Amino acid sequence: MTRQDESLPMLLSVVVPCYNEESVIPMTYRALSDELSALVSDGEDYEMIFVNDGSKDGTLSQLKSFAQNDTHLKYISFSRNFGKESAMLAGLRYATGQYTAIMDADLQHPPELLAQMLREARKGYDQVIAQRDRTGDKALSSFFARMYYRLVDRLTDVVLTDGIGDFRLLSRKALNALLSMNEYNRFSKGLFSWIGFKETVITYRNRQRAAGETKWNFRSLLRYGVDGVLSFNDKPLRFCLYLGAAAIVVSGLYLCSLLLSILFDGIDLPGYFTTIFAICFFGGVQLVSVGIIGEYVGRIYYEVKRRPHYLVDETNLPINPPPSTK
Ligand code: UDP
Ligand code: MG
Repeated sequence: MTRQDESLPMLLSVVVPCYNEESVIPMTYRALSDELSALVSDGEDYEMIFVNDGSKDGTLSQLKSFAQNDTHLKYISFSRNFGKESAMLAGLRYATGQYTAIMDADLQHPPELLAQMLREARKGYDQVIAQRDRTGDKALSSFFARMYYRLVDRLTDVVLTDGIGDFRLLSRKALNALLSMNEYNRFSKGLFSWIGFKETVITYRNRQRAAGETKWNFRSLLRYGVDGVLSFNDKPLRFCLYLGAAAIVVSGLYLCSLLLSILFDGIDLPGYFTTIFAICFFGGVQLVSVGIIGEYVGRIYYEVKRRPHYLVDETNLPINPPPSTK
């Protein structure tokens, strides 16, 4: 049984979002607590903050039973599934460590890497990022992922890199910066890149999930992909503007040529194809543009409501997150 001494300085907090992870939680908890207890020296403390994102399985009861015997384990349980972004945010708000790491619950982010990440952070890096290679991934999905990163890089102001996800260690400075951004639509990959600070990347071999299954499907990936592009700038809106301007120029030229041909050759009726084409094409362009504007308006709608990112149902932490610790 591990007891936590309140007076010890908190060196490291690890935030773990969990959604229906009952088959892997015991493994993750053991691996993480073995790693962390070996990592911190005598005068220091660590904490594991598991965020139960509205799981419908036994995740919460497992967390509670581990927490009974281990005061290093903190859990926050949401009233329903709010998504990984919200789960990470909750954990980060409660983290009191000098350094804070985020990792997945399925052991795809190996806890063994934390020691190396901490060493790097102590050299003065504010963000130590763990980048995975794509060993063992399906060829098709890694192809799409690569294309997506390339596209997002083009379309947005933030830099995203293939293989870089949420597995990282943050200094208190970087964490406070991250928490100062209170937007409702959170796209962490973009936020991490937006805050800047000194960062370094370490690479590791990709692993498959230890147990359980992925929470992503085609629809959620598509939604996430659109979020990535739209959360960070207004370039898509500008794209609509350019597209509209180009359409005006092209149709102007076409009109001139029509006018000339009418002047010289007289009125010639055939033109069914071009008319239908123009109606369909410009109809499509307009719908897409309105759709893009709609996406932004929808986001503004959620931002202005200022709803909380999540609702906590149960936790063994104080209800209010600590004021950020320096
Ligand atoms: N997750 C979460 N809420 C969700 C979906 C996922 O907290 O709504 C957690 C999940 O439990 C895991 C992490 O986010 O710890 C990554 O999920 P997953 O392994 O399904 O994603 P993948 O590794 O396949 O990208
Ligand atoms: Mg996973």
